[in-house]
Amino acid sequence: MLIAHLPAGYIVSVLTYPLLRMPQVDGKTYLRCGMFGAVAPDLDMIYFYLVDGGRHPHHSYFSHFPLTWLLLALAAGVYYRCSANRRLPVLALVFAGNGLLHMVLDYLASNIYWLAPFVLKPFSLTLVERVYQPWWLNFLFHRSFVLEIAIVATALLIRHRRRSQPSEPPALAAPAAAGGEGS
Ligand SMILES: [Zn+2]
Repeated sequence: MLIAHLPAGYIVSVLTYPLLRMPQVDGKTYLRCGMFGAVAPDLDMIYFYLVDGGRHPHHSYFSHFPLTWLLLALAAGVYYRCSANRRLPVLALVFAGNGLLHMVLDYLASNIYWLAPFVLKPFSLTLVERVYQPWWLNFLFHRSFVLEIAIVATALLIRHRRRSQPSEPPALAAPAAAGGEGS
């Protein structure tokens, strides 16, 4: 997936925040944590280029193992059950949940090691063939890019509607903080 991770995180965070009904969780922070989680797995590209030198596909790193994000989500869930202050576990949950969503979206057109680290076998719904250079052109001309455009368009539509109806509940704006949902 090329451009839709961040807008997908935006959509999920905006749609789930009103379900919380937790005034102690700041809407802006919730949104930022969700959007960060949506792109966090791809931070392993830094390791891929600077350390690994491209020797292994970055989807074979633990940062792209679904189990990593599932365990993070489970840990956040346990923290939520055990902690009196539920703000941090909720933020951790939206972060990990969006990380898990990243795995699903990557799976649509790339290899994801669903059973790793137990079975190092890649799975993908479809694969983007390496025909063009630079690499991102292959994603641009693949049919899965239609879905990416749809996700981006949906995020833009939601953002536009929220901005044109600032008083419409439930607002993502923080109860105590001023302003909208940020970017
Ligand atoms: Zn990825």
